[in-house]
Amino acid sequence: MSTPKILILGAGYGGLLTTLKLQKKLNYNEAEITLVNKHNYHYITTWLHEPAAGTASADHARVNLDQIIDMNKVNFVKGTVQSIQPEEQTVTLESGEVLSYDYLVIGLGSEPETFGIQGLKEHAFSIRSINAVRQIREHIEYMFAKYKNEPERTDYLTFVVGGAGFTGIEFCGELADRVPELCQEFDVDPDLVKIYCIEAAPTALPGFDPELVNYAMDVLSRKGIEFKIGTPIKECTENGVLLANGEEIKSKTVVWAAGVRGNSIVEKSGFEVMRGRVKVDEYLRAPGYENVFVVGDCALIFNAEGRPYPPTAQIAVQEGECLGDNLAALIRGEVMQPFVPALQGTLASLGKGEGIGMVGSKKLFGSTAALMKKASDLRYLWKIGGVGLAMKKVRL
Ligand code: FAD
Repeated sequence: MSTPKILILGAGYGGLLTTLKLQKKLNYNEAEITLVNKHNYHYITTWLHEPAAGTASADHARVNLDQIIDMNKVNFVKGTVQSIQPEEQTVTLESGEVLSYDYLVIGLGSEPETFGIQGLKEHAFSIRSINAVRQIREHIEYMFAKYKNEPERTDYLTFVVGGAGFTGIEFCGELADRVPELCQEFDVDPDLVKIYCIEAAPTALPGFDPELVNYAMDVLSRKGIEFKIGTPIKECTENGVLLANGEEIKSKTVVWAAGVRGNSIVEKSGFEVMRGRVKVDEYLRAPGYENVFVVGDCALIFNAEGRPYPPTAQIAVQEGECLGDNLAALIRGEVMQPFVPALQGTLASLGKGEGIGMVGSKKLFGSTAALMKKASDLRYLWKIGGVGLAMKKVRL
């Protein structure tokens, strides 16, 4: 019998953890493991709001794959997936290369969900990759530099963050921390800088405990963030945003952080999706395909009340680990275990030394939440790269 081929698409949280589990569990001759990723590095998406605002370097959020993957056990292909042909059991890359598989793992992450709002795709930035956050950081600095040459253009100093969910709130916290530095560097009066956080839902951080929401809004308001809650954005243009209440905010920097959908490659490849996500079974399999597994933001799973779990790194990691175990079991003719998420809590940063969180039934505020977030980062780095990586990357 020939060696089974496992093909993993995407080295994000889900794909990486599947790969790491497989490389640990399987012997060299048990399977041919191939990992395809756009870049030769993994990035820590949950940190990307920091380099986007410029409070950390983009390099800090990336980990080279050859540092954490045993390239003797895993065949790494740096390439961009173009399409999946599940009937033929093949995947086509943009380079034209076609890879075949016996088992496929789809972990291609997400894309911004624009909810059909006109102009967002064309004119807004989104915090989604190392390259994207480098561009946001450079653009913000450029706006300060431009203002110094055209002082009547205060719109250069107006920043709009679309969405007061986790990503939007975390980015606002970092941007508010960065502004004083930029004002000093470019000799700009801080009172001229405006940061708006605009949310369509009736509350910031929808679904979060109201006391924590109030705390977060209070901290960020004191840092200078102006909230517009219950205020949908109707349109985004090259000159700013038009709100549903008729108000226009002139800005050259709109950062859209109001939701994601699964990678469109999955839908284009013919898989059944809801907002780009595949409703997987208890073993994370795509409907109709015993040998196609989906993890992370591309997968849709439901809680006991029938509500979908939001896409998070926490769930992607757990799915990847469970799937790694299950694929090893499948290859050895053993029984797979169903995936059951074990949520450990939710933590959001509000800038340096500040945060909120819910761990079990305990609410965390301020520096305690910020410290817990660092601890959770440390745990993840240790999991993927051991003590060495954790020590190198975590900033206390
Ligand atoms: P990703 O981690 O996005 O990885 C996808 C991988 O696929 C990437 O390596 C990408 O380069 C690669 N890829 C994409 N397309 C292709 C292609 N065509 N070909 C080849 N490779 C491709 N979650 C939390 O739990 N806690 C948090 O505090 C938190 N904070 C966040 C803060 C921010 C700013 C953001 C943006 C997200 C945050 N999230 C958080 C959500 C979390 O980051 C995602 O749910 C998680 O990254 C999903 O993991 P994934 O494996 O599905 O995809």
